[in-house]
Amino acid sequence: MKHYKQFINGQFVDSKSTSGIEILNPCTEEIISTIPTGTEEDANNALESAKSAQPAWASLPAIKRASFLHNMATVIRKNRVFLAETLSKEQAKVIGLAQIEIDVTADYFDYNAGWARRIEGEIIQSDREKEHIYLHKVPIGVAVGICPWNFPFFVMARKVAASLVTGNTCVIKPSSEAPNTIMEFADLIQKIELPAGVLNFVCGSGRTVGNALCKSPITGIISLTGSVGAGQQIISAAAENITKVSLELGGKAPAIVCADANMDLALNSIVASKVIFSGQVCNCAERVYVEDSIYDEFVEKLTVKMQQVTVEDALTGIDADMSSLVSKSQIDKISEMVAFAKKEGAEVLVGGKRHEKFAKGYFYEPTLLTNCTQDMQIIQEEVFGPVLPVMKFNTLDEAIAMSNDCQYGLTSSIFSENFNNIMQATNNLQFGETYVNREHFEAIQGFHAGWKKSGIGGADGKHGMEEYLQTRVVYAKYY
Ligand code: NAD
Repeated sequence: MKHYKQFINGQFVDSKSTSGIEILNPCTEEIISTIPTGTEEDANNALESAKSAQPAWASLPAIKRASFLHNMATVIRKNRVFLAETLSKEQAKVIGLAQIEIDVTADYFDYNAGWARRIEGEIIQSDREKEHIYLHKVPIGVAVGICPWNFPFFVMARKVAASLVTGNTCVIKPSSEAPNTIMEFADLIQKIELPAGVLNFVCGSGRTVGNALCKSPITGIISLTGSVGAGQQIISAAAENITKVSLELGGKAPAIVCADANMDLALNSIVASKVIFSGQVCNCAERVYVEDSIYDEFVEKLTVKMQQVTVEDALTGIDADMSSLVSKSQIDKISEMVAFAKKEGAEVLVGGKRHEKFAKGYFYEPTLLTNCTQDMQIIQEEVFGPVLPVMKFNTLDEAIAMSNDCQYGLTSSIFSENFNNIMQATNNLQFGETYVNREHFEAIQGFHAGWKKSGIGGADGKHGMEEYLQTRVVYAKYY
């Protein structure tokens, strides 16, 4: 069993706390590692080390900084199987999907390295004679990245790659539910001779370590991927120093299926978007609206598809569709939400309870609910599990209104063969992302950003990289 330490200033160091947090394999409930509980002092030491390293890092040519990102990609690829197994074991991600996460993370470092020669300012025409207005894009300083447990490795890269290529240094706090793969990465990057302090990893709770990172005057930008509740607390902590925040929070993605949709495509895409990583994905289809005239046929076929979803141990069930949920608290929350939906009148067509096949672990059955109404908790609140509630609509206007009637605004989708329907939906859905005739999943060159309570700012592509830059304007007068 591994005991991870804090990674500060290029070295693994003991935490100032002596206690540890146990990490379980969710499929077996066995303890597989420990991380430090973490203290405010650990957080502050990591910030101090990032602050000291930042001026020299920013003064390197961007292409030199990019070379370290390429080296990170290489080291990940060389250790891709080990990292995928570590990831699969700590958070019950089916091994095939875990491997995809590791491989895409390597690509993400390479992709962001590509921005090195494209961080561009502007020269603006002045109203005065003999004057240029120069707009420079400069690093903010120290970036803090706070990670969730669901795609911990990829989300870590979202924060590290974009902050480092732009000349910031970085402190990462992994989630205490799934820190192992990130801490193994900390070990691996010791081989690439990254200057000490450029990248630091501190483990611990959000309340202590996370809060200390967010309220420090050293922190220039906080990038959180997590729940709305954590986002709200981080905004409060950031208020003290007016620190910039970039928040990628929860979602409640609607999938709209029109009568003219390619039904098989819609069924396959929606089921894929629901069962990937057991529904614990922020962009997952969380509610389905189906046009009245095809509702019965669609639900009948969806019932069969949900019954066919296979559930296995994440590491050994190579071809399984899904596995255990991440933790006891997650399965308890989902069980309570489904019980409450039933009490409010929902009918369970498939699943609706813990999976009886497994004596250990947090396995929940793929679940299909009908007879739901718009005001129910199961339609309004993020479930973050393999539970799919389905409702009917009569007109597309009504489906769009029901989709928008929600506090979240992350992802959405429409299935239709009619151009006018697609244009109406993509122009009126109040979501940062809309997928047309495909499953919910973003691309690294896009821009992943939530509207409403789903967040502020965003990640990926050019705009995600620019989150880590601030603008200096110089009015240069000459004679
Ligand atoms: P969480 O909010 O419980 O924790 C996320 C991280 O925030 C953890 O590292 C946690 O320790 C830290 N944290 C919690 N409170 C904090 C505080 N007061 N100060 C500083 N840090 C604090 O979320 P989770 O359970 O790890 O992840 C699931 C949530 O993340 C879901 O709501 C999901 O939709 C969301 N998510 C969003 C995206 C996106 O891109 N929008 C991606 C993945 C997950």
